[in-house]
Amino acid sequence: MTKIIDHQKIENLLIENQGVSKGRIRQIIDKAKEKKGLGLKEIATLLEINDKGLLEELFKAAKEIKDDIYGDRVVLFAPLYVSNKCINNCQYCGFKKDNQDLERISLTSEEIAGQVKIIEKMGHKRILVEFGEDPEASSIDKVVKSIETIYNNGDIRRVNVNVAALEVDDFKKLKDSGIGTYQLFQETYHRQTYEKMHPSGPKADYDYHLTAMDRAMKAGIDDIGIGVLFGLYNYKYEVLAMLEHTLYLEENYGVGPHTISVPRWKSASGVKMNDIPSPVSDKEFKKLVAIIRLAVPYTGIILSTRESIELREELLNLGISQMSAGSCTDPGGYKQNNNRRIDAKQFKTADHRTPDQVIKGICNSNYLPSFCTACYRTERTGEEFMDLAKVGDIHKFCQPNALITFQEYLEDYASLETKKAGERVIYEQLNRIKDSKLRKKAQQKIKKVKDGARDIY
Ligand code: SAM
Ligand code: SF4
Repeated sequence: MTKIIDHQKIENLLIENQGVSKGRIRQIIDKAKEKKGLGLKEIATLLEINDKGLLEELFKAAKEIKDDIYGDRVVLFAPLYVSNKCINNCQYCGFKKDNQDLERISLTSEEIAGQVKIIEKMGHKRILVEFGEDPEASSIDKVVKSIETIYNNGDIRRVNVNVAALEVDDFKKLKDSGIGTYQLFQETYHRQTYEKMHPSGPKADYDYHLTAMDRAMKAGIDDIGIGVLFGLYNYKYEVLAMLEHTLYLEENYGVGPHTISVPRWKSASGVKMNDIPSPVSDKEFKKLVAIIRLAVPYTGIILSTRESIELREELLNLGISQMSAGSCTDPGGYKQNNNRRIDAKQFKTADHRTPDQVIKGICNSNYLPSFCTACYRTERTGEEFMDLAKVGDIHKFCQPNALITFQEYLEDYASLETKKAGERVIYEQLNRIKDSKLRKKAQQKIKKVKDGARDIY
């Protein structure tokens, strides 16, 4: 099997690409606008950008590419933490085994159903279900049962999963439970740092963790999400390695990751912010998001509530295509008065707005919130999704579906103010559909939703 990460190659690229001329950087930005992606050497060069003017050019290109491929759509979701019991000791995580200050909770099926009801009332249709790693509390059977409980207790239409690396047979069970995306973050691709950050437990095995996506693919899961926890090691190395992983998956399985997540280390119970080995500044963070957008134009980029309101709004312009909203990071955290005496959170979030406020903000920035889950329900996943996306055909499905599902949200959940902002966005976005047949069809479906129809796509 080909090597997934070539450490020496990345180190060399980082050294060789220092001090490249502005002209060369501009050439690469221009090439990226063709939306065919970039090679590792080109990415390494862009990572060296420091100049304010060039940074602006990079940001402008990222916005252009995002607008071309995704239009103004931003897909929304909420995480649902089922268990914070964990046998690993990831140094950055509030759930780590050695953290004695955490209240350990594993939700029962009834409690999961209760959380789903609350998340649904916020207007969400997508859940990212999350677990610590524990042979009991997050056994594959428990994970599968939790997913069934979510699907069977309301109108959640897509469940994505973030659970520890599995064996092929268990991945098959996960696939059969009807998941959307399987997400697993490498945290850091740098082996020595990985070993330092993961001193014990099954996750301590770098190679087993890194090859999880190969096993997922072998089990038939072609919709996967990867990520790095920024703050563990030099962000330039991490971006290059993550993109090398992406190229490896494309070459070996015909399809790369459906999404890339960009979590940044936040403070957590039992974890000090001073512990962060390689902090990433806001400026560097914006740069790396924009570079990912240029490098893999057809891959979704997910941003969580770890980031502040201001930064989230800025990053919308740099290529983000999915956002969580109203998130809680403790099992059972969604409730009216969440005043736990003992902390149970994985980490502290920074954007505490309700989904309604987040959605109003998205509308005021002239983006279109989307609750669409149609692709996965019509089995447009993996290679098929990428083929449609690459010829630009995905627009034909996504734009109308985004409008229809957003209209549903406005009818059923929005505050008056958000409804007003949302109606304006829907009107403007409808008028931007150039194909008159397509526009008319979307208008008819929106009317149906206003008249009471639901879940049409
Ligand atoms: N337990 C599984 C695992 O570790 O693969 C599932 C994922 S865990 C529930 C979700 C992710 O949260 C981790 O992969 C990690 O990147 C991130 N995370 C952990 N501690 C964090 C912190 N202090 N700040 C920001 N993100 C954190
Ligand atoms: Fe456990 Fe995941 Fe947290 Fe590591 S990141 S301690 S595996 S929950």
